[in-house]
Amino acid sequence: NINIPDYVNSALLALENAGHQGFIVGGCVRDALMGKKPADWDVCTSAKPEQIKDAFSGYKTIDIGMKHGTVAVLTSGGSVEITTYRIDGEYLDNRHPQKVVFTDDLTEDLARRDFTMNAIAYHPKDGLRDPFDGQKAIANRLIRCVGEPVKRFEEDSLRILRGLRFASVLGFQIEKGSAEAMRQCAERIRKVSAERINVELSKLILGSSADKVLQEFGDIIKIAAPGLRAVSVCHAPKKLPVRLAMLFPEKTEAALRQLKYDNHTIKTAAVVAGLLREAPPEGGFAVKKLLYRHGEEISRMYFETLGRLPELEEILQSGQCYSVGQLAVNGRDLIAAGIEPGKAIGESLEYLLQAVMKGKVENDKEQLLQIVLKEAFSLPQKY
Ligand code: ATP
Ligand code: MG
Repeated sequence: NINIPDYVNSALLALENAGHQGFIVGGCVRDALMGKKPADWDVCTSAKPEQIKDAFSGYKTIDIGMKHGTVAVLTSGGSVEITTYRIDGEYLDNRHPQKVVFTDDLTEDLARRDFTMNAIAYHPKDGLRDPFDGQKAIANRLIRCVGEPVKRFEEDSLRILRGLRFASVLGFQIEKGSAEAMRQCAERIRKVSAERINVELSKLILGSSADKVLQEFGDIIKIAAPGLRAVSVCHAPKKLPVRLAMLFPEKTEAALRQLKYDNHTIKTAAVVAGLLREAPPEGGFAVKKLLYRHGEEISRMYFETLGRLPELEEILQSGQCYSVGQLAVNGRDLIAAGIEPGKAIGESLEYLLQAVMKGKVENDKEQLLQIVLKEAFSLPQKY
């Protein structure tokens, strides 16, 4: 028995009261059957899009894709995406069906879905509808195409990446026929948009079985993600930039830009990749230098990757100085002490920071001011 939240049950009831069928379907049924809490609840229905809206006339609804038959209904408990049973027409571009045909047969709707584990519907009164033995696949931890695998991947090659992503995240095996079809159709992945590759790749490399999938299907993944090296990431932190840095160790920025990652992720991954190419820092000064150059976020990721996070934490918690902001003096103090406002202030602060980081002087206002006044006119060593 699947425990459905009240707001989803109410949605099913509203469809029924209007004379239509409604089932929960897809990822939420799969997750619930695996004992996991579903992230969102999708409903499929015999009602046509306009009829869905009529059935929820008291609610706010949003057309997500009227052409594809999806309406989001906003309830106080949460939003439910409701999609009309449909048969996908012919796929001419490897991704989008040319036309969508609505149907009132649930089985036809389940037949268009990608994997048998994703093609199970459930209704609290009618129970499970599982014409493709999805429960058996889940029990055997298998990813198996609905229907003829080559045909399904030819229709939509994003399904190849979805399958690999599910294998990584769920720790499932890919059934032999489906795996062979993935290899056979691999070249078609080139047609998938960078945005969709990005979404699937990101989930894949953070999945608990990422190593296994990268090893077994690295060649296919490389087609989607040029520049990728199928290295082991399982001991690295579960952080996207770190894993990207490891998987794209060279020309990181260009590779990730092509995959449409956001600027922060690209920059972070590129810096981490650069650090991983260098010799790791030895000694407190080297660690503080790293913090000074790259800040806390990147330093943490890097040290976690090196398996040396405690060492970094110790320096962070000890309150040791690694940035100008932590100095016991600021620009105003220096001006008050007689340093000329302008460039000299910043340079003096940098100079003092280096001295403190090297342990030549304590981070103490009096001592720092003394040094500045004594050495103000000698050229501050640029770091
Ligand atoms: P997730 O946990 O990532 O949400 P999900 O299975 O719910 O996994 P969605 O992308 O939310 O995946 O899609 C919902 C359902 O729609 C899937 O379970 C599957 O039945 C169907 N589906 C999604 N994408 C495709 C596709 N490319 N081809 C066929 N069916 C698909
Ligand atoms: Mg989903």
